[in-house]
Amino acid sequence: MKKEHDNHENCVIHTEDLTKVYEGVVPVKAVDDVHLHIEKGEFTALVGPSGSGKTTLLNLIGGLDNPTSGKVWIHNQDITQLSKNELIDFRLKNIGFVFQAYNLIPVLTAKENVEFVMLLQKVPAEVRNQRVHQLLEEVGLLDQMNKKPSKLSGGQQQRVAVARALASKPQFVLADEPTANLDSKTAAKLLDIMAKLNRDEGVTFIFSTHDQRVIDQARRVITLVDGAIASDEKKEVLEAV
Ligand code: ADP
Ligand code: MG
Repeated sequence: MKKEHDNHENCVIHTEDLTKVYEGVVPVKAVDDVHLHIEKGEFTALVGPSGSGKTTLLNLIGGLDNPTSGKVWIHNQDITQLSKNELIDFRLKNIGFVFQAYNLIPVLTAKENVEFVMLLQKVPAEVRNQRVHQLLEEVGLLDQMNKKPSKLSGGQQQRVAVARALASKPQFVLADEPTANLDSKTAAKLLDIMAKLNRDEGVTFIFSTHDQRVIDQARRVITLVDGAIASDEKKEVLEAV
């Protein structure tokens, strides 16, 4: 069947004419006519100066904000057509989020934070437990699982946030400056974990960043200037020897 756009099996995100204007005394075009196509398994960095629209674009792709005009397809679903409740449900099932400020629930342990989305989705206890353990192991935090966020370092908290983002087996993970509050060594470690999840489990990541070491790990780098895509570069994958 012919789709509305040139979608195919491996397309996870597709935007057309995507624009967001913040109204005000002086309206701001935060995202300006963005056409973006992201495939399954990509590891993409969104870069650009502060105020260039990275957060707004990620929020539009993640269904956290509505565009002024244009479309966002996640696989075959045009999310701009969903009702508020449908969108909440769609986000929960399809999109993982990692934020700059970790956004963990302070009263819950690391394990419970990761488990939370699965509880909402009524995943049976046994499956839930197994998945939480697997995820915390993948981010190297199995031994910290009963600690609350306040007892964990910033890097550890962000690794919990990555595990949490993956709990619902989302189509992709959006990470808005995930390393902004981390020192460069801890940031590099977080990126290593994300890169490993991408390589070994095929998790699709799109992350915004200022950090050159983080940019260096990306396989595709999209640069925004004044809300528009100024460049879009795919790098050759260097195989480890
Ligand atoms: P970045 O994440 O690259 O720093 P943002 O997406 O946060 O960029 O911001 C893009 C532009 O939109 C900036 O000019 C910013 O001031 C403006 N902006 C962002 N959020 C809002 C908002 N809620 N209301 C009004 N203007 C906003
Ligand atoms: Mg931002």
